[in-house]
Amino acid sequence: MEARIRELAHRFGYGEIRTPLFESTDLFVRGVGETTDIVEKEMYTFPDKSERSMTLRPEWTAPVVRAALEHNLFAQGPLRVYYVGPIFRYERPQRGRYRQSHQFGVECFGYAGPEADFEVISLAWELVRSYGIDDAVLNVNSIGDDACRPLFRESLLAHFRPHAAQLSPESQRRLERNPLRVLDSKDERDLALVATAPTIASVLCEDCRAHFSAVTGFLEAAGIPFVLNPQIVRGLDYYTRTVFEITSGALGAQSTVCGGGRYDGLVRSLGGPDVPAVGFALGIERLLMMLDALAREGERPRSGIQAVALGARARATLVPIVAELRRTLAIPTFVDFDERKLLAHLKTADRNGARYALILGDDELTAKTMVLRDLAERSDRSIPLGTGKDVAASLVEMGV
Ligand code: ATP
Ligand code: MG
Repeated sequence: MEARIRELAHRFGYGEIRTPLFESTDLFVRGVGETTDIVEKEMYTFPDKSERSMTLRPEWTAPVVRAALEHNLFAQGPLRVYYVGPIFRYERPQRGRYRQSHQFGVECFGYAGPEADFEVISLAWELVRSYGIDDAVLNVNSIGDDACRPLFRESLLAHFRPHAAQLSPESQRRLERNPLRVLDSKDERDLALVATAPTIASVLCEDCRAHFSAVTGFLEAAGIPFVLNPQIVRGLDYYTRTVFEITSGALGAQSTVCGGGRYDGLVRSLGGPDVPAVGFALGIERLLMMLDALAREGERPRSGIQAVALGARARATLVPIVAELRRTLAIPTFVDFDERKLLAHLKTADRNGARYALILGDDELTAKTMVLRDLAERSDRSIPLGTGKDVAASLVEMGV
């Protein structure tokens, strides 16, 4: 999966960025937002030897911005970067929710227009699509900007305030400071009031409306299906305008595999210049869960060769041949160096998912041949025993 991710990011013109596993706690408090789940309860925070407060990376965006500012990466104009690696959150561990998990994400800095939103969304969608996952749903929404979000805030307050006592304690606490957070709550006590909450559509300003309709227009033109979902607000404080999530029924309760959006205010709020930005973060474990759910329906295709030596002499002959196959063939060559019966080697081949067994025993040594067994079609063919290069050439000729 990581190989596919790197190849995809490369095709879109994104370069890799790696940030430290931990940063100053203050970066996440400022960059993620004080009323978020991450900052309120999920950070792994500890003092270092000089009593500075440090936090294991719970998300990548704030560290990426911090690094870009520190190394002056915004000076040369637009910047496109991606990352793959671990995040740490103090969560209640359960299916699809771990204390150490892995994210793939991209950040596109420097473009305020809808083209960048489309580019980033289409990159995320392309990864999911490339696995043929057809129950994935792309949800998009706009949460407005500084011009119209205050109006939305007011209408949310007007909706929730009279019933505040019925909300979860957490939502009650967040209501006055950031009523949008309440919309993102997963607490059952909040669901009914959230379902009837006003949507932003009626107060969205003209600029936000035009931006959002351009984004959805690009998606339509690209044939990327999406759902307009006014309930998507995202868990982090720094989003503006476009927000999106990719969800899947295959995931059960933890149904979101990818979330992202535009965050034009973040770079400035971390002490940098005005740099518009859009990005996403995708949960690798959750994408793997989606693939597992799919794979149960069809069998994984076999690939590669299990090299099998029966006896010490055969093993010595096989070592340079295996080395050559590994140098020249694009498929994997597996080998078990222990002395075992043929049947045991074939079981290992099954475990490895190998398509072929390449077998060399005493009889073959005498006859100067090897047996190529097709484990999918259950047929044997004989090939001449020669140098590694000869054997590799025979295999390629036979379409292996
Ligand atoms: P959730 O609503 O599931 O808690 P989130 O809003 O906290 O997600 P983000 O911070 O946007 O998630 O992270 C992006 C993606 O990273 C999520 O959609 C999910 O796929 C993945 N992710 C987040 N936290 C975890 C975790 N603890 N374990 C596994 N994957 C995670
Ligand atoms: Mg979370």
